[in-house]
Amino acid sequence: MPTEKTDKTLEIIHYPHPVLRHKSKPIRRVDAELHQIVRQMFSRMYDARGIGLAANQVHLPLRLFVVNLSAEPDEGEEHVFINPVITLPRGSEEMEEGCLSLPELYGHVRRPKQIRLLAYNLRGQEVRLDLEGMLARVVQHETDHLDGVLFPDRMDPAAREELDYELRDLESTFQQRRQQEEIPDDAEIARELSDWEARYC
Ligand code: ZN
Repeated sequence: MPTEKTDKTLEIIHYPHPVLRHKSKPIRRVDAELHQIVRQMFSRMYDARGIGLAANQVHLPLRLFVVNLSAEPDEGEEHVFINPVITLPRGSEEMEEGCLSLPELYGHVRRPKQIRLLAYNLRGQEVRLDLEGMLARVVQHETDHLDGVLFPDRMDPAAREELDYELRDLESTFQQRRQQEEIPDDAEIARELSDWEARYC
């Protein structure tokens, strides 16, 4: 039964699914199932050709995300960041971003160029990294997810307007899927989230 639930839960959800707006609470324990969840998150991410995936993109209200800049399972370095905190933002840089929860959408986002990341890894060790370039960018994008923030929220309003048509398209797809009961209602989603939070937060 838990396996069934995990499999269904770990599908990547798309805007405007409400879990993408959920602010994740810190994780207080790591167990064998969480290790398994992280493996499945990597595999979902590779299937979708992504370089970063936050837990709430697979329907889990847990404060963690995974990254592999190579987007390939046998290449690059896999990172798991639990309870990330970003400090010491420096500089500013505009880059084009995309998101597995906003398929086919891209937009320019201005963010700090360098940051310090404080987090924990799966072994419970504290991680402190000074980051710049693509890894700094992905870490900021994924940490935003954990606070319910999506990249269009950070775009210049005029540029963001250009995405309105595609966003409405995703909204109507979501409504259709909900009418077909492929996506649970808000009350059911809230119950699932609080079950997960009771176990890990
Ligand atoms: Zn994203």
